[in-house]
Amino acid sequence: MNWEYVQPVRIIFGAGEIKKLAVEIRALGGHKGIMITSKGFLNRGLVAQVQHDCDGLVPLVYSQVSPNPTVGECDACATMMRNNHCDFVVALGGGSVMDCAKAAATFCLTENRSTEFLATGKPIPQRHLPIIAVPTTAGTASEVTSVSVLSDHARQVKAPLSSFGFYPDLALVDPVLTHTVPPYLTACTGFDVLCHATESYWSKHHQPICETLSVRAAKLVMENLEQAYNHGDDAVARERMAEASLVAGLAFSLPKTTSSHACSYPLTNSLGIPHGEACAMTISHFIRFNAEHGCQRIEHFAHALGYTHAHEYADEIDGMRERMGMQMDLKAYHLTQQQFNDLVKASQHPNLLNNPVEVTECDLREMYLKMVE
Ligand code: NAD
Repeated sequence: MNWEYVQPVRIIFGAGEIKKLAVEIRALGGHKGIMITSKGFLNRGLVAQVQHDCDGLVPLVYSQVSPNPTVGECDACATMMRNNHCDFVVALGGGSVMDCAKAAATFCLTENRSTEFLATGKPIPQRHLPIIAVPTTAGTASEVTSVSVLSDHARQVKAPLSSFGFYPDLALVDPVLTHTVPPYLTACTGFDVLCHATESYWSKHHQPICETLSVRAAKLVMENLEQAYNHGDDAVARERMAEASLVAGLAFSLPKTTSSHACSYPLTNSLGIPHGEACAMTISHFIRFNAEHGCQRIEHFAHALGYTHAHEYADEIDGMRERMGMQMDLKAYHLTQQQFNDLVKASQHPNLLNNPVEVTECDLREMYLKMVE
């Protein structure tokens, strides 16, 4: 087996480490930066606090990033960076903020609009402003990946853009920033982590370093997610979930995600289901499906996590989803035949090809039928 491992992002992890931001900006040679964030952090005063602690190094703020960031928001960030001659970017937020900031940090050095690259295959320029990513959710691990997921509503596309230039220069992971994440979002983001860990382990592009990380990340989720959901101020559970998210990011960044993520994109695009919950909707199905079709890797993974077989792992995930109030099926959406057909079609996303077992249109149709009947 031949493989290559690369991870260019410097990582600082721990409670209170956000205080190191100014020092790290100076170490990167930054003079005039922009903070990309979402409105909530502006309202809660965190943005003003961070700006104050950074001694005027981050005078500009773009706070209009929405969940599932759009090409328009990315272009607006890029324009602000370009017009104000910014020399570095701080992304303070969840995956949406970090994804938007990572792409904008590249496009601001060009005259290109992000829609020119989204799902078009056009090569992405490599030059970019230095990026410091400060995650506030324990979910996407966008702080250590080369991916930015953007949406173009005009074309009804939500797709990942990938470029080596999107890797942040620094991931500053302070678990305390996740303490304010409400229970439902804690569950959604936590299941995103579990899907990253599980899918990267069985991905056709799996490799030894990443699979070790996958096991560590999934164990942390199974042991700590419910505690973080039920007791959001439990610093230990929050720290372990932040670690799980980061480690799962290191695990899936190269092998990539597979079937559950492929299906999550249309579930989010068409039905508005948040990313993590959308991934969680099909993960136990694909665990059983892959196991039943002879994928030994999912059995090994389940054993490594302490389960006797893959079905037991899938059952435990379903139990957790139910206890945390996640949607267990699609009945509430009353899908028309056309919507159902569109969902099946759009789930045939390129990530599906990374699944260790072939998933046909018929397989998808069967899976979704069980979820709507
Ligand atoms: P998010 O960034 O969309 O945030 C969801 C909501 O939570 C927002 O309203 C946000 O303001 C709020 N929020 C964030 N941090 C908070 C905090 N500490 N306290 C209270 N509220 C907070 O959610 P996410 O799950 O982190 O990111 C999802 C996005 O990331 C999706 O677009 C998904 O496709 C993408 N994604 C990217 C990668 C990658 O590798 N780049 C991987 C997986 C998913």
